[in-house]
Amino acid sequence: MKLNKNFKNIEENYLFAEVAKRAAAYSSAHPEKRVLKLGIGDVTLPLAPAVISALHSAVDDMSKQESFKGYGPYEGYDFLRESIRAYYMSHGVNLSLDEIFVSDGAKSDLGNILDIFSVDNTVLVPDPVYPVYVDTNAMAGRKVIYAAANEGNGFLPMPDKSIKADVIYICSPNNPTGAAYTKAQLKEWVDYANATGAVILYDAAYECFITDESLARSVYQIEGAENCAIEFCSFSKTAGFTGTRCGYTVVPKSIKADGLSANAMWFRRQATKFNGVPYIVQKGAAAVFTAQGRKEINENLNYYRRNAKLIAECMDRLGIWYTGGKNSPYIWLKCPDGLKSWDFFDTLLENIQVVGTPGAGFGKNGEGFFRLTAFGSEQVTKEAVERFEKFLSE
Ligand code: PLP
Repeated sequence: MKLNKNFKNIEENYLFAEVAKRAAAYSSAHPEKRVLKLGIGDVTLPLAPAVISALHSAVDDMSKQESFKGYGPYEGYDFLRESIRAYYMSHGVNLSLDEIFVSDGAKSDLGNILDIFSVDNTVLVPDPVYPVYVDTNAMAGRKVIYAAANEGNGFLPMPDKSIKADVIYICSPNNPTGAAYTKAQLKEWVDYANATGAVILYDAAYECFITDESLARSVYQIEGAENCAIEFCSFSKTAGFTGTRCGYTVVPKSIKADGLSANAMWFRRQATKFNGVPYIVQKGAAAVFTAQGRKEINENLNYYRRNAKLIAECMDRLGIWYTGGKNSPYIWLKCPDGLKSWDFFDTLLENIQVVGTPGAGFGKNGEGFFRLTAFGSEQVTKEAVERFEKFLSE
């Protein structure tokens, strides 16, 4: 047998392991110091009561002969897909039910979607980037090129007509930078993709953080996107499902090439390799879209938004350049005094015991930047902000 040699081309991602290692080493050397963690991208608030109650009742369904469920539909139960459809409708997007595919989360779909694309496609990803886009393509042996995101373009690279790419990744609001494209900027990407015959893989995992009307909650709010974009979304950040696992992908029927339909191929791919998301989890996810569910989820989102605002306002007072903080749970800041990302990490850990994520771990252009997240508790966020402000204004 032969193993897939492309795995040799995947760069080992030490980022979070190294963050954890340095934080743990500091804590064991200084057990008296309280380390505050603003580095994690995971949610911390528990599931909303409406979701919990739907999960309980779905468990009861499984205990009775008349409501027991075995294998479900590969593409998800209609009750959940109808709710997702109505959610898109509320943002002016009209999808048909068979364009919506429920899954166990955006990460799986972002990786699995590559099954339907030829290995000779050239892939364009922004730098810095959510590492999954790069690694999944590297595993398959695809050529990856980068669109530079930097201070000059506000970490929102725009299409470069001289570059030819077949598959384009866009994540907005972005992880790690928190930057989000306006509808006008997205229109340029959509027009570029349609003009060149490229597909956009649009990661909307953080759409729920958007409050600004000029930003798109879905790429399909942009005219023409139905001909070139596949959208990935998730209940992870919207409703705290990081450990419960549920997401969805929209594959429009109008995306076609070489007489093949992306929608039909994705259905075929899922039917071959995936047996659906548990009924219980889908019931929990559907509760997110009920009036009570929406209300409760918004309270949680507002909690994280308040944390993001606290951090962003601190950067404003200190005159530190940053993206995100609004419409996003991430604050991506420029390290003061020209420090490199890991040097700033060590400085914060040593002096004020605040842990963030070095931007350099997300790509070459992340060097000199640093990510803080709003997913911690309000109390930890407040204390971290106080320490940060006191230290940097000294
Ligand atoms: N996309 C982005 C940009 C993310 O940051 C994450 C998780 O952090 C995901 C996708 C994965 O989401 P899920 O939990 O649905 O797999």
